[in-house]
Parts: sequence; C-alpha cells; structure tokens
Amino acid sequence: MADSTPATAPATTTDGPSRRTLLRGAAIAGGVLMTEAALGRAPAYADVEYDVVIVGSGAAGMTAALTAAKRGLQTVVIEKAPTFGGSAARSGAGIWIPNNEVILAAGVPDTPAKAASYLARVVGDTVPVARQQAFLANGPAMISFVMRNSPLRFRWMEGYSDYYPDFPGGMPNGRSIEPDQLDGNILGAELARLNPSYIPTPAGLVVFSADYKWLTLSAVNPKGLEVSAACLARGTAAALRGEKPLTMGQSLAAGLRAGLLAAGVPVWLNTPLLDLRVEGGRVTGVVVTRNGVETLIKARRGVIVGSGGFEHSAAMRAEFQRQPIGTGWTVGAKENTGDGIEAGERAGAALDLMDDAWWGPAIPLPDQPYFCLAERTLPGCILVNGNGVRFVNEGAPYSDVVHVMYDRNTAASPHIPAWLIVDQNYRNRYLFKDVAPLLPLPDSWFTSGAAFKAATVEQLAQKIGVPAAALRATVTRFNGFALTGKDTDFHRGDSVYDRYYADPFVQPNPCLAPLWLPPFYAFKIVPGDLGTKGGMRTDARARVLRVDGSVIPGLYAAGNASGAVMGHSYAGAGSTIGPAMTFGYLAANDIADS
Ligand SMILES: Cc1cc2nc3c(=O)[nH]c(=O)nc-3n(C[C@H](O)[C@H](O)[C@H](O)COP(=O)(O)OP(=O)(O)OC[C@H]3O[C@@H](n4cnc5c(N)ncnc54)[C@H](O)[C@@H]3O)c2cc1C
Repeated sequence: MADSTPATAPATTTDGPSRRTLLRGAAIAGGVLMTEAALGRAPAYADVEYDVVIVGSGAAGMTAALTAAKRGLQTVVIEKAPTFGGSAARSGAGIWIPNNEVILAAGVPDTPAKAASYLARVVGDTVPVARQQAFLANGPAMISFVMRNSPLRFRWMEGYSDYYPDFPGGMPNGRSIEPDQLDGNILGAELARLNPSYIPTPAGLVVFSADYKWLTLSAVNPKGLEVSAACLARGTAAALRGEKPLTMGQSLAAGLRAGLLAAGVPVWLNTPLLDLRVEGGRVTGVVVTRNGVETLIKARRGVIVGSGGFEHSAAMRAEFQRQPIGTGWTVGAKENTGDGIEAGERAGAALDLMDDAWWGPAIPLPDQPYFCLAERTLPGCILVNGNGVRFVNEGAPYSDVVHVMYDRNTAASPHIPAWLIVDQNYRNRYLFKDVAPLLPLPDSWFTSGAAFKAATVEQLAQKIGVPAAALRATVTRFNGFALTGKDTDFHRGDSVYDRYYADPFVQPNPCLAPLWLPPFYAFKIVPGDLGTKGGMRTDARARVLRVDGSVIPGLYAAGNASGAVMGHSYAGAGSTIGPAMTFGYLAANDIADS
C-alpha cells in the first residue's frame, strides 16, 4: 500500500477547459516539476488503492461514502479542510425530499404525482426530466437508508411552506425535514474535527431550524416564548444527561460521520484533491496532497466528486457570474473553491448553471456576511433600490430576490447594494440576527457601513445616498398597503410562503406593518449565497457527462460540484442538501451495481 511508484504528471484530457483551467493545470504540473527539480529526481507518489474515492466530506460526499461502504465497496473520503462537514455542517440542514418516510408518518399528504408536477413546474426545462425523476424516486430511499445506517433521525419542519405553494403539487404546510437532536459524544475525539456552524447556537439552548421562526417572535407572541422555553428545556435536559447536543447541520454532519466511523470508512482530512487521474478516457484515481506529499489514490471502481461549489474562487466567480461579485458575500465553507469542478473540466466534463448560486440577500457585517431570512420579511421592513424605490416582494424566496437584484441592476437604477429599511417599532418587536428586540445593534455594524440610523426617513435617505423624496414616497405608499393589507405593487403576503416568517398578530396582513416610529434604520443588502449551484453536468445516475453527452467512465459528481437538479430555482427549504445527499447515494449505488 505504501509502495512508491514513479510519478508522471497527472493525466488529463483537454477537451474544452477554459484558459483559467489550463493555467491552473499548468500551475499544478509546474508544482510537480519544481518539486522534481528541487529533489533532483522524479517525485514519488505513495500508491494507495480503494474501490471508490470520495472527494469532500459534505452532504454529498459523506452520504455517498456511507452508501458505497454499505454496498461492500472499499471506500475512502478525502477532505481538503482540517475539519469534516463542509457547508453542510455550517447549515440549517433543512432537507427537501418529497414522500420520505418521515413526512408520510407525520401525515403530510404528499404523493409522487404531486411532487413530480411541483418539481417540474419549479424547475422548468433547464434540467432533464430524467434527473428530476431520479431525484424524486431515490430521495425517499436515501433518507430511509441513512436512518438505517447512521444514528441520524429526522423531523418534519411543520408549516415551512414549499417556496411556491400555489404551484400544482405545492405544499403550503411544507414537506421539508431536518435532523433530530444528536449527542456529539457518539463521535468521541472526532467531534473536535466537526466544521463549526455558521452562527453557533447560544450555550444552553438546543434549537432546531423550525424553531427560528418562533424565536424571532419571542417578544410578541406566546408561541415564541413557548418555543424559547422548549429550547432551554432541551438544553438543560441534555446537560443533565452529560450530552453534547447537536442540531441542524452539526447534527447532520456528525450523524453521517458517525455512520462512516461505524462502517470503517476513513476520512482523510487536510488532503485536497489536486487532479483526477485519467487513463484511456477513464477516471482511475485522484492525485491529492497528503501530509505534504503528492499522493495518487487509485480508484478501482470510481471517483465521486462531492467537493462543493466554487463560492470562494474569485477567478471562477469573475469568469462565470454577473458583476458585481466576489468571495466576500458568501457564507459557504471557505475551502469550496471549485477544485473538483476544475478537475472535472480538465477531464472533459461539460459544465452547467455556472452563472447561478443559492443566492440570498445578505448584510455585509464586519465579521462575516449575514444571510437574512426573517429580517427581510417580517412586517415593518421594506427593500429599496438605490433610487429609494421598492423593487420586489420582500417575502419572496431568497434566490428570486437576488435574481431580481442582478436583473435590474443598472447605472441609472442601482440595485446592488439594495437597502433594507426598518423602523424602531420593528426593532422593538423582533430578533434581528442575534440581537434581541429593544437592544442596541453593535456599533461595528454602523462604523463598518453595513447599517445606518437616523431620526427621519429623509435623513436616513441622505446617509445612504438615495433620493430623500423618493424614499419618503415609498414609505408612505407602503404604509398605505399596511393599512389595507394589500400590497398592490408586489403582492407581499399573498403567498403562504411569504407568511412563514411573518407576525400573526399584525393584521390585516401579517407581512405588512407601517414604518412610522423613529429612529429609522437602513441595512446594506448585497447578493449573498449559501454556495454556488453550477458544476459538472451529470445524468440521472450522477455520472459526469462530456459536452457531446457521452459519459466519462469512472467519474461521478453530486452536490454543488454538479449542476443543480433545481435548475435556476429552489423548491423548498432543503433544496440543496436533499439533492446533494440523493445524488451521492445514487452515484455510489451505480458504482456498486455496475
Ligand atoms: C449557513 C448555511 C446554511 C445553509 N442552510 C441550508 C439548509 O437549511 N438546507 C439546504 O438544503 N442547504 C443549506 N445550505 C447549503 C448547503 O449547506 C450546501 O449547498 C450543501 O452543503 C452542499 O453540499 P456539498 O456536499 O455539495 O458541499 P459541502 O457540504 O460544502 O461539502 C464539500 C466539501 O468538499 C471539501 N472540498 C473542497 N475542495 C476540496 C478538494 N480540493 N479536495 C477535497 N475536498 C474538498 C470541502 O472542504 C467540503 O468539506 C446552507 C449553507 C450555509 C453555509
């Protein structure tokens, strides 16, 4: 196993890769040559062999690895980061899988026909029907498989509406699930290597994604108080039992990792993929750096790339995405720099959806961007463009809001940044990020230019550089909508989805309240994202395809390293993790079956 074999530069094909990819490839080859020169001899690859090599330990990679191992394949996971879990560990871990056993047991009236018509309407013709069907047909089996082969259990996110509940087959009461609470002690020392969550849960509380809606309302709604108390009670009970309670993405990643530990699958941290090894058109392994040494890991049966998106690659974002864009507004895992996508491209993979991302309006706070959910939709806030004019239904799905920001962004009508405007009444009622109602916002938000505050709407307009009369007119018009309960401009509150993060006590429309109580606040809004959604083109079996539609033998991709089955859209909470896990599962099963 530790045999050294003489090195050759990793074999790659060159059909179609961009200049950027070729340059990156040359840099890798250059690295080999430099090492060679320094050593005065050809570098030696430690020669290791597995049935399946999985690249990345996120949602796609760990699900694929668990499946491969349980199908009897000798499997290894290589992970670039010093931690496991990727963005999945950072996430809320909502999982959108229609017709899974958890929601059916909870009485959700889902059917395969409803799911198929809904997904088809959401996705349109951007993604072949066969892939949509493969996702819907295998998602439920994947969830059952994970529950049987790991400590993970799931719960229905009751009431978290599909994002387009009015489409045929849409579910106003939701069909998303999230992981149940897990005791981190099951991982032993490995727990220390779990990638931390994006925003840590306050000590002593155990919070589910589905609680968040109510926590934002805890100052104004008895159910909010009840849920806060439940979070505390769960935390206290876990502490008394000596547990290290995990929820959301922490639970998901820890649970999958525990499954891998039990199945004996090694996860090699600090082991980045450098390139794929291609022999005679077939992918036969990966070249990685391990302990500072370039290592070839041969894959007898296949390589599954689950190395996430390219949200942290400035070069790829500049090449494929609309301006303005950078790497500062994403909340995705920092190691997700598109390495697997570039390696696939060098091996001949076609790429899809590279212009798109799992977008969402974000506030560029000084420590890290803040991905806004409830803050953008609760009553008493509006989103305006650089002309001080509303431009979107603030309660619309987050990807849609950012698509509008890019679509409408011109010099005459700037939409990036946009501005979230709220009043003190809103601040008195709702949690904002982790700042409780009534409490002052951190000074650093103001000094960094992410937030502004003024005694009047006009003064606020002046501070953020939008026309004061226009902003005043916008607020006045919106306040009229709040009184009648009808947003005749953008129909905020018409959809059940809009009303998920709303305030039931505000009437006649729980999404609309007037902005009237000074001071007024403005928050800078930029196109943030949870990660990118473009990557290698794959078929219904997660096999990677060339531009001509032929399969690259031995190469599979899942998750954000592949073009999303959701196309340019987003079906409901969990539309990235649900498919990532499902296509990881499919890829491993395909290898085992073939
Ligand atoms: C704060 C936050 C909240 C979110 N909430 C949700 C949610 O509730 N529901 C939902 O569906 N989605 C959510 N997402 C998005 C979701 O987490 C990602 O889309 C999903 O995890 C993608 O899965 P993946 O397996 O493709 O990538 P990841 O989970 O990011 O895993 C990719 C892994 O590959 C590794 N890697 C990268 N390059 C290499 C390399 N060269 N060699 C080896 N390894 C490499 C990375 O380090 C990482 O560990 C959220 C994301 C964030 C950041």
